[in-house]
Amino acid sequence: IEHPNAVAAAQSTLEKSGQIKLQVEDIHKCFGQHEVLKGVSLTAHAGDVISIIGSSGSGKSTFLRCINLLESPNSGRIAVAGHELKLVEDKKLGHLKAADPKQLAMLRTKLAMVFQHFNLWAHMTVLENIIEAPIHVLGISKDEAIARARKYLDKVGLKGVEDKYPAHMSGGQQQRVAIARALAMEPEVMLFDEPTSALDPELVGEVLKVMQDLAREGRTMVVVTHEMGFAREVSNHVVFLHQGRIEEQGNPREVLVNPKSERLAQFLSGRL
Ligand code: ADP
Ligand code: MG
Repeated sequence: IEHPNAVAAAQSTLEKSGQIKLQVEDIHKCFGQHEVLKGVSLTAHAGDVISIIGSSGSGKSTFLRCINLLESPNSGRIAVAGHELKLVEDKKLGHLKAADPKQLAMLRTKLAMVFQHFNLWAHMTVLENIIEAPIHVLGISKDEAIARARKYLDKVGLKGVEDKYPAHMSGGQQQRVAIARALAMEPEVMLFDEPTSALDPELVGEVLKVMQDLAREGRTMVVVTHEMGFAREVSNHVVFLHQGRIEEQGNPREVLVNPKSERLAQFLSGRL
């Protein structure tokens, strides 16, 4: 007879493994002779908010871009919501590529990316920007896509902007539209690459607040950021990248307050 606690323990392990939203293992990436990522791994469970910090050039963006294959890693494994992406070596180019473009397209629908420079389409209205991918990639009806767009615009605190063009909005508003566009895909994991770095200082707060709301809702997020307040207060795990390796990681309140690594201490004090 199994001890009830053993059953409970087995169940909780199962539940936990079922809730792994993103598992990235041992990513290596070279640009020519320059090895930018030297074996980076990351696991995000449902509801995790992981901040990736590190100095400019440490490989943060490249790592994020490898996760959705905007960059092709030289080696490594990627699984999203329990589905491992099938990768094969492209012998000519010397890196990996998706074995099945359909699987890659499917996986990308589960990973939404928010960029530093918003990357909204300038020739499209806010509404058109948001409904484009749900209609053409997910295949939902236009009416449903519009309803989703309104719902998520509301969530990011924007109302009555559907017919505006991005150029007529502030940077903070544009980034919130980009977040609404990502949400409209109803992804498993949201990837953010320095979402507030291009903003005027007075507009940073409105975007961070939206991200904090998303974290509170239990969304799974991986955020490259220089906002140490966000890393400390909102994320539950912080990863410090240094020269393409994870130099230190852990609970933000420990790692950011009492860094073990000298390099992280230097980075936090602005000396790296
Ligand atoms: P971070 O986001 O941490 O600032 P990046 O991932 O952008 O760092 O860049 C890491 C390193 O990789 C840098 O040295 C950068 O110059 C180099 N790099 C990034 N993208 C490319 C590319 N497409 N071609 C060549 N080198 C690149
Ligand atoms: Mg970067």
